[in-house]
Amino acid sequence: MATKVAVLGGGIGGLTAGHELASRGFDVEIFDAKKIPGGKARSIPVPDSGTQGRRDLPGEHGFRFFPAFYVHLPDSMSRIPFGPHGATCADNLIGVEAIEIARYDAPPIDLLARVPRSILDLKILIKEIYSHFLPLPMSDLEFFAERLWQVMTSCEERRYAELEPQSWWDFVDAENRSPEYQKFLAEGLSRSLVAARAQEGSARTVGQIQVRLADGMIRGGKGTDRVLNAPTTDALIHPWIAEITRLGGTYHSQSVITAITMEGDRVKSVTVQTPQGSSAIEADYFVCAIPIEHLDPLIDTGLLSAAPELQGVKDLAQNVRWMNGIQFFLTEDVKIVDGHTLYVDSPWAITSISEAQLWKHLDLSQYGDGKVRGILSVDISDWNTPGTFDPKKKAKDLDLQQIADEVWQELKRSQNVDGKEILRDDMIHSWFIDTDIEMSHSARPHPVANLEPLFINTPGSWKQRPKALTSIANFSLASDYVQTQTDLACMEAANEAARVAVNGILDATGWTGQKCRLWSMPMPDALRLWREHDKHRFEQGKPWDGRLIF
Ligand SMILES: Cc1cc2nc3c(=O)[nH]c(=O)nc-3n(C[C@H](O)[C@H](O)[C@H](O)COP(=O)(O)OP(=O)(O)OC[C@H]3O[C@@H](n4cnc5c(N)ncnc54)[C@H](O)[C@@H]3O)c2cc1C
Repeated sequence: MATKVAVLGGGIGGLTAGHELASRGFDVEIFDAKKIPGGKARSIPVPDSGTQGRRDLPGEHGFRFFPAFYVHLPDSMSRIPFGPHGATCADNLIGVEAIEIARYDAPPIDLLARVPRSILDLKILIKEIYSHFLPLPMSDLEFFAERLWQVMTSCEERRYAELEPQSWWDFVDAENRSPEYQKFLAEGLSRSLVAARAQEGSARTVGQIQVRLADGMIRGGKGTDRVLNAPTTDALIHPWIAEITRLGGTYHSQSVITAITMEGDRVKSVTVQTPQGSSAIEADYFVCAIPIEHLDPLIDTGLLSAAPELQGVKDLAQNVRWMNGIQFFLTEDVKIVDGHTLYVDSPWAITSISEAQLWKHLDLSQYGDGKVRGILSVDISDWNTPGTFDPKKKAKDLDLQQIADEVWQELKRSQNVDGKEILRDDMIHSWFIDTDIEMSHSARPHPVANLEPLFINTPGSWKQRPKALTSIANFSLASDYVQTQTDLACMEAANEAARVAVNGILDATGWTGQKCRLWSMPMPDALRLWREHDKHRFEQGKPWDGRLIF
């Protein structure tokens, strides 16, 4: 009889684990709490928006960005068949040309037109590039370039020992510098494209991500910034579940794990609550792909005494912040740029992408009432800073209509510049905010609540974060907060963690076939000699000097 594995949670981590196991003949069942599969990566059809047989409008939890440094998730996608002609989900990834930085009342900046040609140039060119259009003193530019250089040329051991304990904000001395320095340099690309929060994230996590993003841009080509050519559920999640099912696995939605039961030093069963009732599911192995804040209440004293490292999950369960999407459905297609736009003056740290130009094969007239022609998909990454426009409040303190109003005003102020009117009020057909943002009836402490926040790698959190393989031989973890090479709460990290979890099961069951592939994520290879030099110095207890001479 095949070894039975219960996968708890059906987001990117759970789907990856289910796929890898089912393709090796394991008996896999995935249990997910929600009606719509895919976790934070899911699309959300706008309820009751489709009329006369058309599909509901394609809403999203938040738009999807696949930077060039992702390798694990694209590998999974290349093994998911898509359509009848031999294509895979990896073929649904398309490279986009531009990353635009939009400012209030000033023309936007196209970042990709200005990247250096080699990582070795980065330090010099940061000064040259930014000095052309930013009112920043050269000393600020030099200081920031030096900090980035330090991340790139520090050996791994030093990055853990010296960068991990401090915030990126402190490391780049943002607090003592100008708002322009904070917006363009300290926050930079990480501001809202990824959940690497400059103010709260560790210098190691945010620094490494900034370097990887910059390296991807420098290497250029179509892979710099990739997006899907259709809503995530159509382009990835549904085909993935179909493939797992074809391989013999099962995906159960609306199945909430309410308890994890130990017997001796192993997990014996989980309790699953469905609309039909509650039952105990036994399995040989359990892969837990539930987000950290939902796993926390499931860790009881039995689980904790068998795996004391799970205390880290309890300690970090509140290390989550809000990041959610809102889509503006428009009666015209407003292209803006072929890629993402960062709104550096937005106090709510919004980013946007205009979807219709990328979802080329999607006939929007077949959605909603047939009148939508464009979709501006926006992520809001800061819910705690007052907005620019009346009533100048935090997103958390507003109702859904007020949130939509503020975001639209911020978009207009950043796009309608130089006498152009790119966005007009009469274009708005409707808007949709992620259903995880719920209006609270009591309005206390905030009018809205977020059912699905995102994990943040705060300074020093690395040591508290568990590894994918726990001390319990048949219980592993496969979600974005787990210690991974990717080291950022994103789809790539969830996929990588799941591969490690599955490899643990393969080892334990004496599997002799191919294990899940894992890639390391080093800093740019061109700077390897600098890092070797730094390692030598680190071992001698000497500080980083950023040089090459031994
Ligand atoms: C707005 C937004 C935009 C983002 N954009 C990007 C992006 O562009 N690129 C990128 O790489 N990453 C992005 N991310 C991050 C990325 O979506 C997540 O890091 C990743 O999807 C996490 O996958 P996961 O499987 O670890 O967890 P999740 O996606 O959270 O999946 C966990 C699943 O567990 C289920 N669950 C929870 N509790 C239970 C329970 N008790 N029983 C059963 N099931 C349960 C949930 O329903 C969920 O389906 C974004 C995140 C947000 C919030």
